[in-house]
Amino acid sequence: MSHSNALDSLLSEIRRFAVPADFSAQANINSADYAQLCAQAETDPEAFWSALARQHLSWHQPFTEVLDERRAPFYRWFADGSLNVAHNCLDRHLHGATRHKAALIWEGEDGAVRTFTYAQLHREVSRFANALRHQGIEADDRVAIYMPMVPEAVIAMLACARIGAIHTVVFGGFSAEALKDRLEDTGAKLLITADGAWRAGKAVPLKRHADQALLREHEHQVEKVIVLRHTNADIDLQEGRDLWWEDALAGMESSCPALPFNAEHPLFILYTSGSTGKPKGVVHSSAGYLLWALLTVRWVFDLKPEDVYWCTADIGWITGHSYTVYGPLANGATVFLYEGAPMHPHPDRFWAMIERHGVSIFYTAPTAIRAFMKMGQEWPERHDLSSLRLLGTVGEPMNPEAWMWYYETIGGGRCPIADTWWQTETGGHMIAPLPGVTSTKPGSCALPLPGIHARIVDEAGQPIDKPEAGGYLVMEKPWPGMLRGIWGDDARYVESYWAKFGNRYYVAGDSARRDADGYYWVMGRIDDVLNVSGHRLGTAEIESALVAHPAVAEAAVVGIPHEIKGEAICAFVVLRASHAGDDRDTLGASLRAHVAELIGPIARPDDVRITDTLPKTRSGKIMRRLLRAIARGEEIAQDISTLEDEGVVRELQK
Ligand code: ATP
Ligand code: MG
Repeated sequence: MSHSNALDSLLSEIRRFAVPADFSAQANINSADYAQLCAQAETDPEAFWSALARQHLSWHQPFTEVLDERRAPFYRWFADGSLNVAHNCLDRHLHGATRHKAALIWEGEDGAVRTFTYAQLHREVSRFANALRHQGIEADDRVAIYMPMVPEAVIAMLACARIGAIHTVVFGGFSAEALKDRLEDTGAKLLITADGAWRAGKAVPLKRHADQALLREHEHQVEKVIVLRHTNADIDLQEGRDLWWEDALAGMESSCPALPFNAEHPLFILYTSGSTGKPKGVVHSSAGYLLWALLTVRWVFDLKPEDVYWCTADIGWITGHSYTVYGPLANGATVFLYEGAPMHPHPDRFWAMIERHGVSIFYTAPTAIRAFMKMGQEWPERHDLSSLRLLGTVGEPMNPEAWMWYYETIGGGRCPIADTWWQTETGGHMIAPLPGVTSTKPGSCALPLPGIHARIVDEAGQPIDKPEAGGYLVMEKPWPGMLRGIWGDDARYVESYWAKFGNRYYVAGDSARRDADGYYWVMGRIDDVLNVSGHRLGTAEIESALVAHPAVAEAAVVGIPHEIKGEAICAFVVLRASHAGDDRDTLGASLRAHVAELIGPIARPDDVRITDTLPKTRSGKIMRRLLRAIARGEEIAQDISTLEDEGVVRELQK
């Protein structure tokens, strides 16, 4: 048997959780709706998207053409229509009960709480939009936002959308260097920042980082800097360039017309996490992007008017863009925001806030779940989490044991879990269960959403229909929320996502398999695939087997060259707090045996290295490419601009 192309699947996860009957009875999408949506999407995709876009978005000028494929793979959607994204997120909710409903509930690290109703948020966004215009910002200008997780960050984004400026949010945890790169690459004309941000009781000096990024020798085009007073840090304001947020607002009117922009007008530029290489500046459109963010919130999160919705991602990531700002607000939701460290002052901070604010929908990342698991369940057990009705996860493959912990300890065995597979580039969820329709399997992101034509193909681009065989995860048809390009680099867009199979498919860069029920299982990054004795193995399954061991909280595996096997498996493992003192040699042997027993001898790690932490991107994803270099004893010559903590590398190299 040849193993040269397909990826071998090892793990057999058989647990399955049915949709609770009371959940499906009230769901936005039930089985009949789902069947209808799928049928429409199959028979006439353009009619399907057209009807959704007309039904859910408020258009200034309705579109007549749905999809323009003339310059494929540079697709355009609804291209002769026009709308205003901020109008769709704010103004249209000002009639009726939503007007005085909380749009944002914010809690600071020190416990301070601020609330903005839709009417208040609309007013603040309008005033700030006027302030931006007053500072010379026009449609198409790029505006960089380097802010803490405060309501003003959301206000800044929506103010840009209101006047057609293209925002580029740079995660507040990034260094001056990463900020400088993004300012240069986007040619931003104005920067919005704060004196500082709170993180675990310390003030992070954002403005000082901004000053370093803006040094004159750099090739940025920033003319003005607006600074929010937040931590009261001592900062320098550069005469003529910098001004306080409140001074920028002085005298600004509280109404600002929401002018129509073309459906394809770029809404924002956002950089990918940099897990597999240098970050890519992904460009998203206005109408198509907004439609997909809005719909997926309705479908996958089953959002209802009375929900209190919390997505823990920073607004500096696509998850924060689509699922804190645009998707929920376009639906008129109440969104909870938190600024601060997840474990501050104690590891129960998240659970305390869920209880305090009555959060009903909670969306976070596997890295956070594993970190909470590592701390032990006594922390969540201190709180009443009965307000929760749905849980979500995104960012990395969910290890089945972490899924089970989330399901039982946080969800009380009652809440459906939406494991959502998607990317910065896809704009919104692509493969995910619908909570009122799809039964779930721990570790699987379930089925493609209606309108999403996912395939698994082999090296030659041929669809693999055989269940369990792994291959490239690709999309066969364009969808409205897809990226429109890489900022200033059309060639890289084509090269990164389309060239591999002659522009026939959007190539996600992940490997996946489909089981006999059609459920998708992400096996890892294409770049991280291991080749052991002729078997091509994804990373996710071996890592999940390790995490299923009671001593393990988190694991990452990489290949190292091996004379006989081609590659040997090197596993990096982080222990749960309760096993921190275990004898390392005994544990190493036990882990190797455990993996061999769970998924077969082929996957037995040759080397197990116990470590305190793993190298991660700032968005919390394991950077296997770095571990690979470390395991091979190579020098680190790759892009590490999005690495969370450089100290981890030195630690691991020891
Ligand atoms: P870069 O593209 O710069 O290497 P990145 O791919 O990590 O960085 P993101 O867009 O933040 O940047 O992450 C998307 C990736 O995250 C997906 O391609 C996939 O590998 C992973 N991912 C996201 N959600 C899931 C999920 N539910 N299950 C498995 N993997 C997921
Ligand atoms: Mg990527």
